[in-house]
Amino acid sequence: MAQNEMWYETLHAGFGQYFTVDKLLYRDKTAHQDLVIFENAAFGRVMALDGVVQTTERDEFIYHEMMTHVPILAHGHVKRVLIIGGGDGAMLREVSRHQNVEQITMVEIDAGVVSFCKQYLPNHSAGAYDDARLNLVIDDGVNFVNQTQEKFDVIISDCTDPIGPGESLFTSEFYAGCKNALNPGGIFVAQNGVCFLQQEEAINSHRKLSHYFSDVSFYQAAVPTYYGGIMTFAWASDNEMLRQWDSATLQSRFEDAELRCRYYNPAIHVGSFALPQYLLNALSCEE
Ligand code: SAM
Repeated sequence: MAQNEMWYETLHAGFGQYFTVDKLLYRDKTAHQDLVIFENAAFGRVMALDGVVQTTERDEFIYHEMMTHVPILAHGHVKRVLIIGGGDGAMLREVSRHQNVEQITMVEIDAGVVSFCKQYLPNHSAGAYDDARLNLVIDDGVNFVNQTQEKFDVIISDCTDPIGPGESLFTSEFYAGCKNALNPGGIFVAQNGVCFLQQEEAINSHRKLSHYFSDVSFYQAAVPTYYGGIMTFAWASDNEMLRQWDSATLQSRFEDAELRCRYYNPAIHVGSFALPQYLLNALSCEE
């Protein structure tokens, strides 16, 4: 792929987005995936794996703030966090902003993504890989959660779509392992695609998670480069109260955490659990 070429995303058949490649920074097939990082005038540096946009400098904050601060502030006293995937380092960056978190384990299958993103997307990790609380494990997330004896308060699955290495992170085996690796009162969240275009993924996750957790739902945010509508984040715990806090409670926790966010705020947190009727109808058909 040369400069000034177009890069076309291949996630969906017959519908997609493209980016002009203003400067190709890196392209390589790692042991697991086809990795490309390029510069684009509209979104800054763009990273894609196997033809699917993973993250861009311009809009990554929306996704990473929502996948971290919503479960951590809802939980209220998180000490140990597990990140599955997240090789670009931005999820780790946002988790590490919580000073009360004592230990962060990150399990990424592809060491190549970590090293290339440190070099080409430095603003994503922003030094978080040097955090003394981090235990970085290079492994398949499903192996880790099914072998670890450790317990966590929040588990964040920041994986690719369920194609290629990411497929194993949408299986009952993975969800069972996550349930077993959570402390009582723990919360599991996962990127679950754009529900207007990937509705089956949300239905499948909901069905499988419901075998292990008593309260399974979704929350949402619109992330421009995860195009096609709102992105849904799977939510699973054993206490439905955890997703029903009022904004006053969340405001107090938000202020105590001394976070400065560009997307997240307590009102957005509360509103993010409101879901479109077509998704609610599809999920109720499964019950
Ligand atoms: N924000 C992106 C999204 O919503 O699609 C995900 C970003 S992050 C780059 C996805 C990461 O998941 C990649 O670093 C990829 O290597 C990692 N990954 C994919 N399958 C995995 C698995 N089975 N175990 C652990 N990490 C995995």
